[in-house]
Amino acid sequence: MLAAGATVLHVDVMDGHFVPNITIGPPVVAALRKHVQAPLDVHLMIENADNYIPAFVDAGASWISVHQEACVHLDRVVEHIRSRGALAGVVLNPATPVATLTDILDVVDYVLIMSVNPGFGGQKFIRRTLGKIRHLAELRAQRNLSFRIEVDGGIALDTITDVVQAGAEILVAGNAVFGRGDSGHNVQQLLQAARSAALQKA
Ligand code: ZN
Repeated sequence: MLAAGATVLHVDVMDGHFVPNITIGPPVVAALRKHVQAPLDVHLMIENADNYIPAFVDAGASWISVHQEACVHLDRVVEHIRSRGALAGVVLNPATPVATLTDILDVVDYVLIMSVNPGFGGQKFIRRTLGKIRHLAELRAQRNLSFRIEVDGGIALDTITDVVQAGAEILVAGNAVFGRGDSGHNVQQLLQAARSAALQKA
């Protein structure tokens, strides 16, 4: 993936509680870290995320994102991630409004908009999340903030242009890369589509 042009590896961690699926944990992040220099973007779809931040940082996570819906003390968790030297992101499920982040946008490094309901790969992109990406980009411009906007779920050749034009800069693709055909070629095609959408926007 990296040889084909990807710049960040996104790791989906699920606990079987916050989301219905169970995937992987710190040992897999540590195993990846042994082989790659690239940033590891660890997306925690888990309850009690605060308790696991040290383990993921020690395993080699460079970026850690937590769900707004799963963190009662979101400000504390974000500060915890940053205090450990990782970039801190907050994630919004499709039904959670951007407005819930108004008071934390100035301390997050990135916001991840879920464009599917988290838990499984291969789901269909939910188009109304495009409005949330635009809203977030507008807020950032209005308030002169510098967080980055990431989008996760259903990113593929038929959705990537709209997502980039709405304001996303970090694009997570799973099924569109690994689903069929040559993965490296798929990465190249997605990047090409994203870059031309970014140029059109500019
Ligand atoms: Zn993810």
